[in-house]
Order: sequence, then C-alpha cells, then structure tokens
Amino acid sequence: MPANPAAGERLEARRTLLGEGLEIRRALPNRHRRTVGAWCFLDHAGPADFAAGRGVNVGPHPHIGLQTFSWMIDGTIRHRDSLGFDQWIRPGQVNLMTAGRGIAHAEESPPDAPGRVQLAQLWIALPEAEADREPAFEHYPELPLLERGGFRVTLLAGEWSGERSPAAVHSPLIGLDLTTAGDARAGLPLRADFEHAVMVLEGAPEVAGERLDPGILLYLGQGREALEVAAQGAARLLLIGGEPVREEILIWWNFVARRREDIVQATRDWNEGRRFGEVRGARSARLVAPDVGEFRLGAGAA
Ligand code: MN
Repeated sequence: MPANPAAGERLEARRTLLGEGLEIRRALPNRHRRTVGAWCFLDHAGPADFAAGRGVNVGPHPHIGLQTFSWMIDGTIRHRDSLGFDQWIRPGQVNLMTAGRGIAHAEESPPDAPGRVQLAQLWIALPEAEADREPAFEHYPELPLLERGGFRVTLLAGEWSGERSPAAVHSPLIGLDLTTAGDARAGLPLRADFEHAVMVLEGAPEVAGERLDPGILLYLGQGREALEVAAQGAARLLLIGGEPVREEILIWWNFVARRREDIVQATRDWNEGRRFGEVRGARSARLVAPDVGEFRLGAGAA
C-alpha cells in the first residue's frame, strides 16, 4: 500500500427526477462503477422547497434482492408498505426496508402544506444467501452521534470508532454522515480491507486533499487506513464503504438480482398483481414496471 495513496476517482452523479419532479443526483450505479461495498445505489434528493401537494410523491412500487436505506436530512416523508408499516421519517432518522423476495412501498411528502425536503436514499445489495429472505421494515429514530475535529458525525451503518449503528445490515459495510457549520478538519480512521467513496451533499469540503462539489462521488478504492476531511464553511458529506462485492449484480428498475430471469419474473409478478401485496393509503399512482427488453443500467429507479 502506498504511503500516500493517489487521489481518488471522481465520478459525476447523473441528474434525474424522482417521481413527479424533484431533482436528484444519482451517484450509484454509475457508468464507471456499480457498487461500493454492498452499497449499489445512491440518490441525493434536494434540498428543495416545494408547494403544497408537491415534493416526494412516489407511488407504490416493488423491490427485490436489496435493502432501501433512507437517511432524512430536511423535511418529513411518509413510508407505507405491503407489510402494513406506515411510518413518518424525520431529520436524523433512518428507514431501512429489506425487500428480500419481494415488498412494495410508497413514499410521500405531507400533502397539505409547502415544505422543504432533502434526503439520501441508498440501496444495499443483499448477499446471495439473504437475497430471498422474508421482507422486513425497521425505523431507527436515533443513530450514534460523534464529534471529530468540528464535524458532527452520524454513524448510519456498520461499526466505527467504537460505536455500532443499530441498522440491521447483512454485509460488512460502513456509512457515515459528516456535517459542519464552519471550519472543521478531521482524520477519519478507515478499514483498509474496505473500499470507500465520499459524496458531497452541501458545501465544498476537501477530501484527501481534493476539493469536491455537490454531485461528485469520489471513489477512494481499498487500502486506506485514514481519510483527511476538511471544510472552511458549512458542509455535509456522506462516506460509504464495505467489502468489495466480487460477483456480478444486476440492477434494473427497482430490482437487484443475480439472474436476469429473476428480474423478468419480478416484473411480470408486479405488473400482474402477484407476489408483492398491496400498499394501502398511498395518494400517488401505482408505478408500472417497464419492459425488461429496455434493460438499462439503473433505469428509472424509485
Ligand atoms: Mn423504493
């Protein structure tokens, strides 16, 4: 391992729309990188102000083979799923939905008032042995909070610095949120056997000596035992990492699988009303799975 690891690889997030018009930056999957550890999807939505009745309005849609990990930064969203869970998520909280063999959910902003929304939604590919497990949903109202060199650090997932996130994940991985209102500088210990990446959500902090803007994912690879992070003004960034996934994972629409036929079957089952159950109470229309013939990397996920 070089004493001074080379600068990371800068990957540009793709700008797209979530539901009916909230702009998001989709950093994973990327044309140049599918996964960082078992993290296989990373959307940064907002921050955005919306009028009454707008905001996040993602109607019922299915997932298989993954966990959705929603990290709320500004505003509130209501999650409803086919297991019957009906859960508001607020700033500083995480919703973790395990799709396993199949679940459906809807995510909606409060309908009656204007508001502000910002969140990161990530997916974690389940390891093959867990991919068909029973679906589950968990809400974490609080996560471990630490302070390092002026950064407020939230341990989203995994273990770090003697703390452990309660989030129930099935692969060795880490997720940290770092935020500061002003000057901050910290050396973050990392596991050298993990690969890591950082995405800036706000401000223009420096990571490993590189100044980053929102919408850039800096892929850092494996072999780092520490990472230098600094900010000269308000900033927020996400650090994700984990053991590299060596097997090929297919990501299509809202499905993660290892075999194309599993995606074809999930598409049929959803569009024909089987397997996934009903999401009750959602205001937004049920989404239709597109034809698998249009298979494209990360197309149209919700
Ligand atoms: Mn979803």
